[in-house]
Amino acid sequence: MAVAQKISCRVERITKHSAHVYTVDLVPTRRVPLFQPGQFLHLALDPYDPSGFWPESRVFSIASAPQQRERLSITYAVQGRFTARMATELAEGKQVWVKLPYGEFFVQGTGDVVLFAGGTGITAFTAFLETLTPTFPHHVYLAYGARDTHLLIYRDAVQRRAATFAQLQPFYFVEQDPDGKAATRSELVERLSVAALWQHIANPLTATYYLAGPPPMLKTLTNDLRARGISTAAIRTDAWE
Ligand SMILES: Cc1cc2nc3c(=O)[nH]c(=O)nc-3n(C[C@H](O)[C@H](O)[C@H](O)COP(=O)(O)OP(=O)(O)OC[C@H]3O[C@@H](n4cnc5c(N)ncnc54)[C@H](O)[C@@H]3O)c2cc1C
Repeated sequence: MAVAQKISCRVERITKHSAHVYTVDLVPTRRVPLFQPGQFLHLALDPYDPSGFWPESRVFSIASAPQQRERLSITYAVQGRFTARMATELAEGKQVWVKLPYGEFFVQGTGDVVLFAGGTGITAFTAFLETLTPTFPHHVYLAYGARDTHLLIYRDAVQRRAATFAQLQPFYFVEQDPDGKAATRSELVERLSVAALWQHIANPLTATYYLAGPPPMLKTLTNDLRARGISTAAIRTDAWE
């Protein structure tokens, strides 16, 4: 596995998806080390002097594909003090520091996989989806839920992959449907749940389940999967504590 490196980056673009959710595209000053889909980076806002200590940072899943080593993308939701600073201080052209890669949340290709992504938790899977090839010999079910359709940020990217990769079956969940058009967009108006997906999975008892999102979602889905006879070994979580 690649040794983590500290790299200065320029903020290239910030996309504001809602009052609290942003995507940040970064241009590193050198090619980033090889990373694997599902890994994460540390992002620091304060200047870093390589002879001193690493500044305060938070971790974010690397949303961009590993093939693309001259760009990095993250998507974040404002939660507490640090992410509030990100929302006010990050601006196009600003320099930030990242260190990467970290983590072992890897989707294994040994059988059918079921991915549950809550909100920005989708970024734990976007790099995996970008690296999928038509030769991947198993089903990939993706249950992607967000508060409303605008926050299904990676839906177009998922749809593009699903169009070229028949084994990928996405299911979308929204909690609100203010324009009444969720059905026309094939969105289920309900919370992400095991019950809603179960009937669509060809062999649910032999699949491996990957969950990424807020801790309460992980807890609920894990309990539901356990109640349906899925072993703890077949449930992998990316806990965003
Ligand atoms: C593997 C992983 C991947 C993640 N990926 C994403 C992602 O892609 N997008 C996203 O929005 N969020 C992601 N998160 C969550 C993110 O890292 C932040 O924890 C979250 O946004 C909390 O917001 P905050 O830091 O603003 O909150 P804060 O209230 O500032 O802090 C939240 C937590 O950070 C820790 N903390 C507090 N102070 C410090 C400090 N000085 N140094 C280090 N840690 C401290 C504490 O555990 C605290 O409870 C991920 C978390 C993990 C573990």
